[in-house]
This record gives sequence, structure tokens and C-alpha cells, in this order.
Amino acid sequence: MDPTARCTGCGRPRAECDGCARELDPPRFCPTCGTRLAVVVTPAGYRGRCREHGPVVTGRS
Ligand SMILES: [Zn+2]
Ligand SMILES: [Zn+2]
Repeated sequence: MDPTARCTGCGRPRAECDGCARELDPPRFCPTCGTRLAVVVTPAGYRGRCREHGPVVTGRS
């Protein structure tokens, strides 16, 4: 499966949204399944966790 099939800003398929999340915003939705992520902000940045896929997105602040 395409690991970036979903927009992390709104959870819609990439075919419908080509990424509306801003560069510095934490991802809100799993890029694989579009489920809303539990986002944890850490001193080093942030980490998004999907119920299905575990920690799927990490980033810098
Ligand atoms: Zn979007
Ligand atoms: Zn997922």
C-alpha cells in the first residue's frame, strides 16, 4: 500500500487533497489509513500514533 495514500492534514485520499497540512504542523491523520492520530509533542518534535499502525509519523519541531 502506498505509505502516503492519505493527507496527514485532513485524512482524505491524496487524490482528493494533495496535502493541506502546513509544514510545521503536527500530522493529524495517519498517512496510510486516514485515521485520526494521537499526536504527542515531545521536546524533539512530535510523534503521531495510529491505532492500527502504531507510531507512523515523526517530525521535527
Ligand atoms: Zn488535506
Ligand atoms: Zn493507520
